[in-house]
Amino acid sequence: MTASLRLHYLAAMGIDVWVARHPAVAAEPVPRAQAWKDLQHQVAQCRACPLCETRTQAVFGVGNEQADWMLIGEAPGQDEDLQGEPFVGKAGQLLNEMIRAIGLRRDQVYIANILKCRPPNNRDPQADEVQACHDFLQRQIAFIKPRLIVAVGRIAAQNLLQTRQPLSQLRGVQHELAGVPLAVVHHPAYLLRSPGEKAKAWEDLQFALSVYQSLKQ
Ligand code: SF4
Repeated sequence: MTASLRLHYLAAMGIDVWVARHPAVAAEPVPRAQAWKDLQHQVAQCRACPLCETRTQAVFGVGNEQADWMLIGEAPGQDEDLQGEPFVGKAGQLLNEMIRAIGLRRDQVYIANILKCRPPNNRDPQADEVQACHDFLQRQIAFIKPRLIVAVGRIAAQNLLQTRQPLSQLRGVQHELAGVPLAVVHHPAYLLRSPGEKAKAWEDLQFALSVYQSLKQ
């Protein structure tokens, strides 16, 4: 019997007071797979900010739920909103190349966004939207327990680190989020617009890789 079923059963039996006095029963852990499914369901149903009105669907995340690397962008764009997956389309293909540059495949990392729903016209996330969606990302990080977080792009980095510092000052530095080391890389959409900056992206990835390798020593 699941914990919630047991609670309903006990309440129906009129012994919910007994449950309250025996927190070990009430706190029976939800199985890991079920907890992840529950979180996905909560995101899909979420109406905590106005972005729910304009989304096609919420975009939860994709990849290996036990990954060492967790890549976090800012929010779904048009392609992501339609397909229900973060970083698809041309920017997604370039991100896949960036992941390959560190010797991994897309299905070996976990990819998510700060916001789970697309802001209209791909505008920047607003502070109240980031706040409303904050708990979902924190729960994803707590579940996956990555060894390294990679903030993809300036907006993601500034929101995750709660700073207004420019990307030029954030990249090449080891930060920390929720006790997890964090590195910043250029956003692939920016690199598509500014192909001359790809060398910097390569430096970012090499730095992230060096942080990750230092964790294993
Ligand atoms: S962006 Fe986040 S908080 Fe807003 S509706 Fe979507 S899931 Fe909920």
